[in-house]
Amino acid sequence: MKITFLFLLLAVGGSISHPPLQIEPSPRFRPVNPVKHKAPVSPLYRLNDTWIPSTYVVEIKVVLDNAPAGEVPYTARSRVQISFTVKERVNSITLHANLLTGLAFRLTNEAGVDIPLSPYVVDKEVEKHFLHIPLLSGVLEPGVTYKLHAESLASIFRDGRTNALYLSSYLTEFGDTKLIAATQMEAYHLRQLLPCFDEPDLKATFTLDLIYETKYKAIANGETIGQPIPEPGLVGWVRSKFTTTLKMPTYLFAFTIAEYEYVTADAGLFAKPVRVWSTPNHIRDGLGNYSVNLTAKLLSFFDTFFNTTYPMEKVDSATVTHKSSAMENWGLILYRTDLLMYSPLVSLETSKNAIASIVSHEVAHQNFGNLVTCKWWSEIWLNEGFATYLSYMGVDAVAPEFRHGEWQLNDALQPALAYDSGPDSHPLKNSGLTPAEIDSYFSTITYEKGASINRMVEAFLTKETFKKGLIRYLEAKKFLGAEQDDLFVHLQQAAVEDGRVSTFPPGTDVKTILDTWTTQAGHPLVRVSVHSVHGDVLISQERYSDTNSPNLWYVPITVVTQDSPPLPNHVPTLWLSNNQRTTTYDNFPGKWIMLNADATGFYRVLYDAELTLLIQRQLRNDPSKISPLSRTQLLDDYFNLAYKGFINIDTALDLTTYFGQEDSFTVWEVVFNQFRNLYKFMETAEQRDAFTKYFLPKIDRALRRIGLENEELVGADEIFRMKLIDWACSLKHPACLEYAQELYFMWNETRINP
Ligand SMILES: [Zn+2]
Repeated sequence: MKITFLFLLLAVGGSISHPPLQIEPSPRFRPVNPVKHKAPVSPLYRLNDTWIPSTYVVEIKVVLDNAPAGEVPYTARSRVQISFTVKERVNSITLHANLLTGLAFRLTNEAGVDIPLSPYVVDKEVEKHFLHIPLLSGVLEPGVTYKLHAESLASIFRDGRTNALYLSSYLTEFGDTKLIAATQMEAYHLRQLLPCFDEPDLKATFTLDLIYETKYKAIANGETIGQPIPEPGLVGWVRSKFTTTLKMPTYLFAFTIAEYEYVTADAGLFAKPVRVWSTPNHIRDGLGNYSVNLTAKLLSFFDTFFNTTYPMEKVDSATVTHKSSAMENWGLILYRTDLLMYSPLVSLETSKNAIASIVSHEVAHQNFGNLVTCKWWSEIWLNEGFATYLSYMGVDAVAPEFRHGEWQLNDALQPALAYDSGPDSHPLKNSGLTPAEIDSYFSTITYEKGASINRMVEAFLTKETFKKGLIRYLEAKKFLGAEQDDLFVHLQQAAVEDGRVSTFPPGTDVKTILDTWTTQAGHPLVRVSVHSVHGDVLISQERYSDTNSPNLWYVPITVVTQDSPPLPNHVPTLWLSNNQRTTTYDNFPGKWIMLNADATGFYRVLYDAELTLLIQRQLRNDPSKISPLSRTQLLDDYFNLAYKGFINIDTALDLTTYFGQEDSFTVWEVVFNQFRNLYKFMETAEQRDAFTKYFLPKIDRALRRIGLENEELVGADEIFRMKLIDWACSLKHPACLEYAQELYFMWNETRINP
């Protein structure tokens, strides 16, 4: 929907300088962050490497509200045969099971002969979710394939939990409630549906039969084989069979059962079937059309980019009303309804943008996560940091109007830097072992810092070399588990081949450099100050937070000066080593210098008063001389440095006086975000009024330049316009009242109902 309204033009003009503001900075050197996740934990929280599962043959009867004789509503009865071998002789089988009842086990050898078992025992450390099944006598031998036959009964959760197998629902246009059974197995929830070796590195194939009431449709990781067939002895029930999956981790196991319809992607967009499933109304109204074609385009883009061939038979995506966001299950990606359904008639560009972003993330996971999987949750950034980083690239390729490469600074780098200086930060390579710890590491660090570190590596290696290294990594580790050292090996080989190692600090390689970024929390503050009358500058690194630690980083530094032409790439001009606090750089006296061009490095930069003033002057004279990405990070650094007490807030506000000339949404976004913080420090109505008078003319200019009533705006431009107007409204200018009502109405109208 386009915005059509009359916005009263605000008085143009406004003061050059900003109103005074005092803030109470937090102590400059905060105490050492409390060390979390350090309680002693038994290393036996992981299954040892004895177990090598190869196939799961699974049959699940899914009972919703209408239970046949002998069954209980909202349960799932499973039979599973797990084929496995062992690496060493054992006299007891250990695997995962949690919250299951009706457990029964039988073990056979390759010839189908029973091997007698003793009764199973639940591990006394119940948080491990281990079951031990001792053999009655004798041992299992390496090299022999055994089959464990297990029966179990699981609950379909309907207490608000949205993991394992759970109940969701939607309302029809007639007000009837329709049920959905949906799965969410990441990170450790398949064990709540059936017994299994539930760790990401223990990949196996899955062959599935689902038994359910005839009125529903079932979708799963594999492709449906033929039509559902009536289940003998169970009138009104059918069985769907699905093709066997490729080797995949247990956390990607997925199915849904619902009265759904689907739409198929346009022919020619992707070589395999791509479908989007949702309620009959949504599909009839065309709400899946945008996302289904987007999914197909992204599959094609990533396959071409990484020289891969999406290996499963098809890609289904389906909506689930109750879901935190989305899950990349191989062959069946599941999304919360509003993250997949889009209406060109009523949806705002922000909704379309959110869909593009999350679909790109989930499709990127098909390589990073599904094809190559982190060996253990401690390196989950290999899944999430890559999917997040690649989602920006994917959207830029298939929906460039959203300009995600630029949003990446606001959406990933800036929140990651903020989180990484707080008490909850942790190293990218974490130490999670228990279920609670594993959950806690699906964090801003794993997603957004992971993405930002990838962007930094891409910058110092160059795009071509980074891509080459990633292609090698995917090829070498496909269908396997990976550790970050595997990634580093392939990036290093690509760097050697492309002659990039000559740009590294002497005696280092990719691993030496990146270990300083992935094995410790925090990031550097880089200071730049005029060193001598000759103008050369002193560049130094220190810890931005957690200052008691002695550890530093290998910091890649690009340099832009007042007279230098734009940089051709982001290969570092110089490095600071992890045992080097300072270096110098020649600069002309009286001319500005800026580090970290386009903010490709994961650190903050603070200039001394003289250089800050020169940069401020440049912004007022001609901001275009400094790139928008450098401008946005300068602002974000300076506001955060002010909150931390490194500089006075006036110094940060001085950098906004040129905003009458600022057209870039990525720079404005910092001001939108920071002023939410700053308004807390404005105690009087007069003070708020003064800031309103200071900013509204600047907003007005930006709105007029972007086209206040331009009906052709799409993508990032339209989102920027909405944000400008929204912010003007939040400043409570009377001119906004009419628009605010319209915006509120549109928000309500455009919410896609489940
Ligand atoms: Zn993800």
